[in-house]
Amino acid sequence: MKKCIVVILFISLFLNFEIRSQDQIISPAEFLGYNLGEAFTPHYKVTGYFEKVSGQSARAELRNYGETYEGRPLNVLFISSEENIENLENIRLNNLRKAGELPGEGNEDGKIIVWLSYNVHGDEASSTEAALATVHKLLSGGDDVNRWLENTVVIIDPCVNPDGRDRYVHWYKENRSNILLTNPIGTAHVQSWPGARSNHYLFDLNRDWTWLSQVESKSRIILYNEWLPQIHVDFHEQSYNSPYYFAPAAQPYHSLITEWQKEFQVEIGKNHAKYFNENNWLYFTKERFDLFYPGYGDTYPTFNGAIGMTYEQAGSGRAGLGIKTETGDTLTLLDRLTHHYTTSISTIEVSSDNAVDLEKNYIEFFKNAHKPVADGFNTFIVKSRNGNKRIRKLIELLDHHRIKYGQLNNSKSTKGFDFHMNRNVPITIESSDLLIPVQQAKSTLLRVLFEPVSTLVDSMTYDITSWSIPYAFGLETYATDQVINFNKEGFVDQPMTDLTPKEKSYGFAFTRNAISDIRVLSELLLHGMNVRTNYTALTTQGISFPAGSFFILLGDNKNFKGNTLEIMTEISEQYELDIIPLSSGFSDDGPDLGSSKLKLLDNQLNVGVLYGENVWSNNVGEVWHLFEQDLQYPLIRLNTSYFSGINLNDMDVIIIPEGFYGSILDEDQLKKLNNWVLNGGRLVVIGRALRYFADKDLFNLKQYLDEEEKEEIEKLQTDPDYLRKYAEDERLYIKNKIYGGIYKTRLDNSHPIGFGYPEYYFTLKTVDNRYSVLDKGWNVATISGSQDKVSGFSGSSSQAKTYKALIVGMEDKGAGEVVYFVDNPLFRSFWENGKLMFSNAIFMP
Ligand SMILES: [Zn+2]
Repeated sequence: MKKCIVVILFISLFLNFEIRSQDQIISPAEFLGYNLGEAFTPHYKVTGYFEKVSGQSARAELRNYGETYEGRPLNVLFISSEENIENLENIRLNNLRKAGELPGEGNEDGKIIVWLSYNVHGDEASSTEAALATVHKLLSGGDDVNRWLENTVVIIDPCVNPDGRDRYVHWYKENRSNILLTNPIGTAHVQSWPGARSNHYLFDLNRDWTWLSQVESKSRIILYNEWLPQIHVDFHEQSYNSPYYFAPAAQPYHSLITEWQKEFQVEIGKNHAKYFNENNWLYFTKERFDLFYPGYGDTYPTFNGAIGMTYEQAGSGRAGLGIKTETGDTLTLLDRLTHHYTTSISTIEVSSDNAVDLEKNYIEFFKNAHKPVADGFNTFIVKSRNGNKRIRKLIELLDHHRIKYGQLNNSKSTKGFDFHMNRNVPITIESSDLLIPVQQAKSTLLRVLFEPVSTLVDSMTYDITSWSIPYAFGLETYATDQVINFNKEGFVDQPMTDLTPKEKSYGFAFTRNAISDIRVLSELLLHGMNVRTNYTALTTQGISFPAGSFFILLGDNKNFKGNTLEIMTEISEQYELDIIPLSSGFSDDGPDLGSSKLKLLDNQLNVGVLYGENVWSNNVGEVWHLFEQDLQYPLIRLNTSYFSGINLNDMDVIIIPEGFYGSILDEDQLKKLNNWVLNGGRLVVIGRALRYFADKDLFNLKQYLDEEEKEEIEKLQTDPDYLRKYAEDERLYIKNKIYGGIYKTRLDNSHPIGFGYPEYYFTLKTVDNRYSVLDKGWNVATISGSQDKVSGFSGSSSQAKTYKALIVGMEDKGAGEVVYFVDNPLFRSFWENGKLMFSNAIFMP
């Protein structure tokens, strides 16, 4: 109890919660009708408070930067001195000049930008409350604050994930007791599926900073790159018994992080420690939260010249308004928000006090970005023969990150590294190729995203260890040590074919090699059009169509009510898709267009996915997002609570995402699914869900093909250093891991699941389990062993898991099929090259 009083006294001195400021800025308590910490504030009231104070204070400016999938506004509040707020646009432009993002020398005005992002994980809900307290403190002024705001522009994003936050706030309101119960086993401390960490599509927004698959990330990154702050903090929560975590971060650090960035993290950590020591609050640094994977709210800013940090308070979705901890104390919402508030203010203080140094080193960071890399690649080349469709997807990403690219006037020969063949080769750069020079403001980010192998100081990372874009996007790419600058900025697409039929029209065709082709297919099917795909390559009118191309023949669409030419022209323009008009059904080579080797696609396909309790929410979110956003094709979510009772005959395809199905896929259910497949259903199983089908009589999937293979693998698994120290245990566990590495698979591209790919495919190992190649069935993608690894960490004892292993397979069963994806091809929606293969499996005739 004594401790409680001390904390409250401290808060009233430090936070000014109840004190009316000189400027008469309304306090959160006055606006909300309750004191901060007494309830969770719904997002519309947070927005309301920001609107209110920005109207009251000349030191604040509210800006909207987008809208969530559920229609909530995304806002930031700029806070600085009155003079700075009046001069905000000039400060911004000058800052971009300092970064070399705009032409001209930036004027060293000693001004810095501190960006604070709260509540990216919806159920880590104390930080938005802390944002309200921080805003009030800054706008209420006082000597210290006034001094800080002279040289510092603070950007406050009170809630990066409003949909997730409101899901938590509403859920908590429904589930809390009238009398505060702090026992952690109570229902208000255990969220129901899917929890509120993620956004609408169940994505973790704190993995999406680089890939920008979600609308929240896309909108935010545009604003972020208009400001490029010197400091960025991402506020989080962790388990309710943990001490507070702040910078400096843990190893591994990415090798491109500068000494200054490392040093200043320590500076910031020491400043926070001062306040935490004063109050006897426990904290830790240098453990658990590393700086390696670029999709986080600490690493992305770091690779963009800032000091990027994660702060973690105890609590998360478990803590509610109060929870009993292991020491017998009660951790309250007020405690949680007070800690986050304290580090918020301390961050602004230490940044402002060191503004000159921060500015100097920021300018230095970007100056160095324009120097040639002494020991590494200086230019990346993406071949134009990847096709407009695939290159455009990359360009969209480069544009969002403001990475510059261009083309040459004439072709040029050089030597360099071939990503796909994993060796050095002579290269000819054509004038049509995409050229990305490393000497530019975004040099560090560019290198992090493209380099084939990211240097790992220590293997115990919190996340995947490979993400290189040429593999993730499946783009034929080269890199060279030579500095080669483009002659013209931007990228000119290959010219498109004129759709107007020169002779009598027989139909239209386009090839398949990108996910955007399946989007077009989806639109054609939803129009009710009949579309065919060729199972054998053919050449007609002198143009070759590899297996898997799409044909819309007028003879197939006699009953179609719309104007085919109009629709095809519209689609061709909308998707910048090169559609070829056909004037004859006769082929110069391969089957004619009327041949049975051109198979009709089902234009009324009912696709369902298992959804709800026991399903891994991120993975079903990826499937859902693919259908609604990438393909715009309806997906029926089938809740696990009633799945056992449904009539499967209403479905054509059922997707089983990763999940824990011990109680759902029992013997009866597997029998039922098997019968449905035998009658023509298609089952598509992903990742960890495979284990419920493996080594079962009904299905062909096995861990081992035979005894000999089992012995071979056991031999590979024999571990010589058996004796070990207790402290090293975690490391030994890592030895068996292959998580997050990239492997080059051998792909059967004559199988419809492999249509549109070369004879290889790079897979991101997302699952540790190994499955043997199918003895009865189609082994579409396989790896033969650890020699197929091209990038990323693999534990030294993990070879056994890659020995002759299945990656993508299909089992024919009666009139239907079972498709197995051992790795998740839709991982975080950034493994761009997996989307086509997954969609192929769905829309396969
Ligand atoms: Zn978090």
